[in-house]
Amino acid sequence: MNDIPSFIELEFCTCPNGCVPRDEHVLSGRDHLHGLEGTYTIVECLTCGLQRTNPRPTRDTIGYYYPSTYTPYNHSQERKKHKSNFAYKLAVLLGLENRCIKKKPPGNLLDIGCANGAYINEMQDKGWKVKGIEFSSHAENNVVNSNLDILYTDIYDLRDLGKYFDVVTMWMVLEHMHAPTKILKKIRNWISDDGILVISIPDANSLCRRIFRDKCYDIQLPTHLYHFNKKSIIRVLQESGYEITNVRWQKNPNTIIESILIYTNKGSLINSLFRWIKNSRKALFLRAILSFFLGITHQSARIEIIARPNIRRKI
Ligand SMILES: [Zn+2]
Repeated sequence: MNDIPSFIELEFCTCPNGCVPRDEHVLSGRDHLHGLEGTYTIVECLTCGLQRTNPRPTRDTIGYYYPSTYTPYNHSQERKKHKSNFAYKLAVLLGLENRCIKKKPPGNLLDIGCANGAYINEMQDKGWKVKGIEFSSHAENNVVNSNLDILYTDIYDLRDLGKYFDVVTMWMVLEHMHAPTKILKKIRNWISDDGILVISIPDANSLCRRIFRDKCYDIQLPTHLYHFNKKSIIRVLQESGYEITNVRWQKNPNTIIESILIYTNKGSLINSLFRWIKNSRKALFLRAILSFFLGITHQSARIEIIARPNIRRKI
């Protein structure tokens, strides 16, 4: 029997690519981040292969699953501390420093789902003119710099911001959106003619996902409403009026480490070992090797895509 709280309103959704409704059950699972109630199901569209959480909480009630303890609202700026040291520069050189915009000189940057603003604050320090969009009041309460230009609103309600931005970023955000194609089409009009969209998403095709199933860290039910893989995210971007310029797997060990921590019992030898690998500064080199290996084998479970508006395509 499902124990979804009665105040959560559920809605059924069809494939956002407009496919004939023909789905296959993938798995059912629960919230592992905060232990909140409810079992949710992921289905796969048999036409295009895009997976989605169905049914899902409505936009009005899903906020319950984003409590004040939600990690992105509380990210520290630890990265900044390493900015000038050797480890940081080496990480950039080896591609281990994710969320780096290497291909553009500083310009106008919009970060959608900017949480507590740690990323745009860092980019502002690097010379970018930054703006953020965030819907959570919990994130607003934890903002790292109160002078940052952040619009606290629901992006669905936001006015046209103009064809203004050289870079629009969405770091692990698109999978949280109820209508990803609608949002992608909207922000396409905010990207300048030679601008780019940079997104990262969890990879539903990863070995990690297949091994740990509903215990995989990046399942994150029910806040992850879509579960993309390389093929399905490319299709969604193309359908939304973009052309792809680069796809890579981030060099990042977090998904596999967190999945092992969810899967194993607290206090067990493996759990303690991976907790140490996750947290200890002494394990920095080990984390770097693991990150590098997971990235080059496409098994980090995090895909990063750079795309640009396809001006030949009318949407
Ligand atoms: Zn489909």
